[in-house]
Amino acid sequence: MTVVVVGAGLAGVRVAEELRRAGYDGGLVLVGAESTPPYDRPPLSKEVLRGTRSLADIRLRDDAFFADHDITLRLGSAVTAVEPRRKHILLADGDTLRYDRLVVATGLRARALPGGESLPGVHTLRSLDDCLALRQGLDEAGAALVVGAGFIGCEVAASLRELGLTVHLVEPQPTPLAGALGERLGELVARWHRKAGVDLRCGTGVAELVRSGRKLRATLTDGADIDSDVVVVGIGSVPESDWLAGSGIEVGDGVLCDERGRTTVADVWAVGDVAAWLGPDGRHRRVEHWTNAGEQARVVARDMLGMPCGEEFLPYVWSDQFGLKLQVFGEVVPDADVTVEEDDGRRFLATCVAEGRLVAVVAAGMAGKAARLRRRVGQPAG
Ligand SMILES: Cc1cc2nc3c(=O)[nH]c(=O)nc-3n(C[C@H](O)[C@H](O)[C@H](O)COP(=O)(O)OP(=O)(O)OC[C@H]3O[C@@H](n4cnc5c(N)ncnc54)[C@H](O)[C@@H]3O)c2cc1C
Repeated sequence: MTVVVVGAGLAGVRVAEELRRAGYDGGLVLVGAESTPPYDRPPLSKEVLRGTRSLADIRLRDDAFFADHDITLRLGSAVTAVEPRRKHILLADGDTLRYDRLVVATGLRARALPGGESLPGVHTLRSLDDCLALRQGLDEAGAALVVGAGFIGCEVAASLRELGLTVHLVEPQPTPLAGALGERLGELVARWHRKAGVDLRCGTGVAELVRSGRKLRATLTDGADIDSDVVVVGIGSVPESDWLAGSGIEVGDGVLCDERGRTTVADVWAVGDVAAWLGPDGRHRRVEHWTNAGEQARVVARDMLGMPCGEEFLPYVWSDQFGLKLQVFGEVVPDADVTVEEDDGRRFLATCVAEGRLVAVVAAGMAGKAARLRRRVGQPAG
């Protein structure tokens, strides 16, 4: 039997590891579009951007690991199509690869700012190459505009501020991270940015972005102009699923899967950021967080081998900003009742309750207390 995993990012590598750990000893091929050996993405908006870590520090596994586990790496090879009837995939270089079992692990691509894609000095951040291109542009830069205050935008703003740049952070929602944390907790994150000297502007977006001499000029929807040397766009991502067109594998907002990652086509699974798994509420949902990719990988590997898949997992995401670790256990659902249990002006701990149950614990700089409380997520509140 041959298992082919398309996408050599975190989810793809973890599926390969889990298959070997579970005793699978057949053919195993990991195909990746990037030429860089598999690496971890979270440091790209943090240490790699700040120049304190390099590729060598963020590799997911070294060459010896792949050799020792008999995992064939085929890097720099984008897959362009899959033909489930013939059980093969097509590569951009014209080659085809046969599979018995296929795993879709192609992640996301960053959404571009309409009209800004082709302007020099305008960046998105998804890959190591993106990060290195952005870093190169920083050598001569004095001011940066970060568009979007989601996780990546907030982290980039914090990193650039730590590098000494003047940073403008623009977000249409009333606070940073409003989607992930709600406005009450988003305001606590806003405090960090303002205190560090970030020019945070919420409730406004970029209406137009043009080059004006040596500067990039953004005109905001509230009429203000911001001039900067570099612009980083963090306005979300889209699933890398175009290559599945015509295959019969159903795609909505991501590749539609059941609760074990099986797609709508036999012998094909999907995992990680690209995958929309069926949740206990009967809805498909994509999760764009690191921990989820590893957990789903284990389920997929075991399901493929006919092994029991284990328990449900608690959603978790972390973010590092200004030397603080922000942690979210569970999910801050839109109608949650948020209580800030502790707040020293910088570090905080909050609980979120919905329909009588503790649905999330959110902590910043309080890892010990959060770890104790996380066990109660999902249980009746009080
Ligand atoms: C800058 C940044 C910072 C982050 N920080 C955090 C954090 O602090 N905490 C957290 O919880 N999460 C964080 N994340 C999210 C986390 O990194 C992702 O959830 C994780 O990388 C998902 O892994 P994946 O394998 O599904 O996707 P990816 O890591 O994107 O890997 C997908 C791979 O598939 C390849 N590919 C795409 N199309 C094709 C194709 N057609 N053929 C072959 N290969 C293809 C891509 O090149 C890529 O290498 C961050 C993400 C980014 C980008």
